[in-house]
Amino acid sequence: MSPASTTSTISSMKLADRLDNLHEPQTIAMAQRSRELRAKGVDIISLALGEPDFDTPLHIRESAKKAIDEGYSHYPPIAGYMDAREAVCTKLLRDNGLTYKPEQVFISTGAKQCLANLLLALLSPGDEVIIPAPYWVTYGELVKLAEGTPVVVHTRLEDGFKITPSDLEAAITPATRCFVFSSPGNPSGCVYSQEELAALVEVFAEHPQVAVISDEIYEFIAFGKAPVSIASFPEMADRTAVVNGLSKGYAMTGWRLGYTAAPIEWTKAAVMIQGQLTSATSSITQRAMIAALLGTQEPVAEMAKAFHERRDHMAELLKAIPELPFIVPEGAFYYFPDVRAYLGRQTTSGEVIEDSEALSMYLLSEAHVATVAGSAFGTEGYLRLSYAASTEQIEEAVKRIAQALSELV
Ligand code: PLP
Repeated sequence: MSPASTTSTISSMKLADRLDNLHEPQTIAMAQRSRELRAKGVDIISLALGEPDFDTPLHIRESAKKAIDEGYSHYPPIAGYMDAREAVCTKLLRDNGLTYKPEQVFISTGAKQCLANLLLALLSPGDEVIIPAPYWVTYGELVKLAEGTPVVVHTRLEDGFKITPSDLEAAITPATRCFVFSSPGNPSGCVYSQEELAALVEVFAEHPQVAVISDEIYEFIAFGKAPVSIASFPEMADRTAVVNGLSKGYAMTGWRLGYTAAPIEWTKAAVMIQGQLTSATSSITQRAMIAALLGTQEPVAEMAKAFHERRDHMAELLKAIPELPFIVPEGAFYYFPDVRAYLGRQTTSGEVIEDSEALSMYLLSEAHVATVAGSAFGTEGYLRLSYAASTEQIEEAVKRIAQALSELV
């Protein structure tokens, strides 16, 4: 058989059914268009970034170099090094008042793989998972990969994009297995208060079959009171998985480290899944994690302060744009303004802006600013604007957005 015919046989082979249901992130088309424009020399400003624009703190980088020199080059234990799991327990007690044993903790290739392990460990086909929208794009896709059914509950800007107890109650059915949310949230920036969580806990008390996955990856990028973990409610401790990691707070997205503390049976099951998927995250990264969690937290506070200043500055800039309601986020590094007033309007070349994706594309082509459409997060009519960018970039980007929006008729 010639190489050409081998290739064509393989390319005509049917792919797995599970792919039928998976969505490619909408951001791919945007990224492609950004690349094309950049290649033509266009000065694109990106407000589409989902990661801090800072470098990893020096002492953490040094600890990784040391780990290489000390020979951490073998497979680590699947759940993570024991002293790394202990470091997570120390952190959870210090920052969140949560008491866990190291056996309840596992370390993974990012919070994303923590979530994947947990959902694969908890869900059977057809189990329902409640996800408040706007949501982080990956939740629903992972639920589908685990053969569960995502049940999206829409929140409202007036409620700070937080799910209300009555909306939660209405969404729960006998098939509900899990509730997944993040606080601080991406893309909304919402942070649930102690009282708001207490009201949700009351609902969960009526439905003991529902497990909670609490994604706390933006914990350190919060601008009011420190975010409360739902696991800190005594009645939730044995039914909640706390997912966190180094990506956002420590500016370590590329290092790929997430961790989870959960009821021991969940941890054992998640570790079993991880053992077949990736074995563990990098040994070097795990050593760096210990330095990150147990070393000085000063750089984390400095980055959070910078995000706070940018958030406040960007609020002033956005306020000057007419018909653009938004809430000032309490955490993470995104604005999520309501752009519905601009939908249905026409560009100067007569093109109608039908939806948030078209508006995002228009802003890229006309204002040369990259944003992410709300529809990518399950909430049409909004745009996500990241302020993981310099003050100069933010000022210039908002100026360009304001101009491009004013040209729509
Ligand atoms: N959870 C949320 C809410 C996120 O926004 C992200 C990244 O954008 C992640 C989890 C993924 O984190 P990690 O880099 O640790 O996989």
